[in-house]
Amino acid sequence: MLTLFTPIEELFGIGPTLRRRLKKLGVKTVNDLFFHFPHRYEDFSNLIPIGEVKLNQTCSVRGKILEIESQRTWKRRMIVTTAIIQDNSGAIQVTWFNQPYLTKILKKDDEVLLSGKTAFSKKEGIYLSNPQYEKPDPEKTPTHTSGLISVYPETEGLSSRWLRSIIKRLLLQLNNKLPETLPPQILKENEFLPINKAIWQIHFPDSLKLAEAAKKRFSFEELFYIELFVLRERLKLAKEKAVSIPVKLDTIKDFVESLPFNLTDDQRKSAWQVLKDMEKSRPMNRLLQGDVGSGKTVVAAIATLNVAKAGYQTAFMAPTEILAKQHFKTVFDVLKDFNLSVGLMTGKEDKIYSRKLKNDTIEVSRNKLLKMIKGEINPYTKKLNTKLNILIGTHALIQDKVKFGKLALVVVDEQHRFGVEQRAKLCAQNNQRIIPHLLSMTATPIPRTLALTVYGDLDLSLIIQMPKGRKKIITEIIGPEKREKTYQFIRKEVKKKRQVFVICPRIENKKKKKLESSEDSSAIIGPLPQAEDFNGWSEVKAVEEEYEKLSKNVFPDLKVAMLHGKMKSKEKEKIMKDFKNKKTDILVSTSVVEVGIDIPNATVMMIEGAERFGLAQLHQFRGRVGRAKYQSYCFLLTTSPDQLNRRRLKALVDFDSGFELAEKDLEIRGPGDLSGNRQWGIPDLMMDSLRDLKLVEKTRETAKAILQEDPELKKYPVLQNKLKMFREKIHLE
Ligand code: ADP
Ligand code: MG
Repeated sequence: MLTLFTPIEELFGIGPTLRRRLKKLGVKTVNDLFFHFPHRYEDFSNLIPIGEVKLNQTCSVRGKILEIESQRTWKRRMIVTTAIIQDNSGAIQVTWFNQPYLTKILKKDDEVLLSGKTAFSKKEGIYLSNPQYEKPDPEKTPTHTSGLISVYPETEGLSSRWLRSIIKRLLLQLNNKLPETLPPQILKENEFLPINKAIWQIHFPDSLKLAEAAKKRFSFEELFYIELFVLRERLKLAKEKAVSIPVKLDTIKDFVESLPFNLTDDQRKSAWQVLKDMEKSRPMNRLLQGDVGSGKTVVAAIATLNVAKAGYQTAFMAPTEILAKQHFKTVFDVLKDFNLSVGLMTGKEDKIYSRKLKNDTIEVSRNKLLKMIKGEINPYTKKLNTKLNILIGTHALIQDKVKFGKLALVVVDEQHRFGVEQRAKLCAQNNQRIIPHLLSMTATPIPRTLALTVYGDLDLSLIIQMPKGRKKIITEIIGPEKREKTYQFIRKEVKKKRQVFVICPRIENKKKKKLESSEDSSAIIGPLPQAEDFNGWSEVKAVEEEYEKLSKNVFPDLKVAMLHGKMKSKEKEKIMKDFKNKKTDILVSTSVVEVGIDIPNATVMMIEGAERFGLAQLHQFRGRVGRAKYQSYCFLLTTSPDQLNRRRLKALVDFDSGFELAEKDLEIRGPGDLSGNRQWGIPDLMMDSLRDLKLVEKTRETAKAILQEDPELKKYPVLQNKLKMFREKIHLE
């Protein structure tokens, strides 16, 4: 018995090759096939007599095959099939390329329907070029040659023709028996097509209007489940318990006064929102979003200080080791008068540092640090004593061995999924029934619609203002002719005691002909690149070459250093320290410095092969400079004449804010082309829908209403099931 859940393996006529190709598309069941939607339609409704066919016309004709044959062309080793078709108004020649099996299907004297576009050649006159074909069947409406014909996104070896045939066959077999998935009142309220009609109309539309109506239903539906899921998670979390952390106003005031700068209003507001959230006994779920350099770290420091003063601990996670070390240093420095102990734990080397009040770094063994994190019971008071207030680190924090005694706050900087999973793992490893508060920080701009949906369970704090006195970074596209001048400029900046970054792309290896595709990590919504995973050998090599060149030939008199992810931890640390302490003038680096690195004295960011990076990534690089009052510069070196690349780089020149750039990026790249959306399991249709703010709001309202009426969805078993499937999908990713 055929059902929606029948795996494609069990379908007639799908061998291993097709199966593999379908799997690539994520199609595993009949249901998946039905939900593999066309991206456009071809209009073949114009059925005309052959005698009336004109040049460059899209049309359908019906006639008898007078002759048909296949030949191999000489020069291009191609199979060309030619035929002559006749009806009682005239005859026309037809040509197909590389479809040798055609002569097995279409025979002389067969009646045939053809749809396609006409072309002209001197020899044949007007002819039909590569048309769709089909033998008319009095029992069935044509699938490929009449009316609106669906065209599916091209996948190697899976033709639209094949997809149309199999989908039609299966739909007919199921005979309008697909169970309705949306509750009736939603269908009615929105005047949506019922499921069976919608599925049919999206694949085999009677009119574009109906196809559009079908698409509308499915767009709604897809977002609706996500909204439901997210809102339900939120409701669940609201029931969880967290430690209520009172706001220690005096301490916070002292801290703010101790800073060498005044907080911006946005920083104050965000910090206040965080503190207020943590006062509640339900877990905070807050996303702190602010453009690069807007000063998010200090907001996190305020939160950690407040937590520490209440006797609880913070776990502070960064995506890379370099960044973890930087945060460690920053947090320690700004909190040094507050009698706290801060620890650092990174994965690569089993070295742990802990700094205590005004002491310099103390190195302790990992075991000792683990004990400090866990704490011990005081035999007299029976209270738990932890000796570490803040633990900063990389993913190393998420290990079973790391057990926090009194964890109350998780800060996650620049991570994908904004830390929800990291917190879940930390909770699991601590067996914690009391959920820690979560503060997630990112510079990655999220389109508003996404913020409402996929991250709808996070409250949002925004830092829009930049700290006072920052100057607009001057961004320039530099062609080969201006390279020398740029080097001269760099020299001048170094004379002024400023510092310079030079970034090399992953590939820049002239000797190696075959280029690896550079990984475009600039998804607006996708996961942020894990910089240290980026160390392909070619990237290292590119950096080495550039370093040689700059240190020996271009700037032999300046201090040039090199940094890449393949280096030893200790080495990296020393290089960053020297750069921070102005012992080096120029740092040649891979994308390891992409996210978060803070060197306020640096004023030049020079990016080699800029076209190889995505917009968001370039914006992150640019954010490494202009972090103090000095005028800063970003030079985008490119040799690419490609228009699209030019447009992208131009966008960077024209816009300084990450939000505007994200919008631009979306515009330039078009839908379905956002790298990273695959990893996020966001299908193309949904990416389209996500741009429709009205639709997003509508689905959200609907989901809210349903949950208000029936929080457990008891009346909606179908929705319950959908959510279950959704959860499984997320967990598999
Ligand atoms: P990001 O938001 O990119 O993580 P950081 O927190 O690293 O930014 O801060 C960038 C730089 O700005 C740091 O050197 C920090 O000390 C400085 N900074 C933060 N807030 C202010 C402020 N209000 N005024 C001046 N400088 C600030
Ligand atoms: Mg940062």
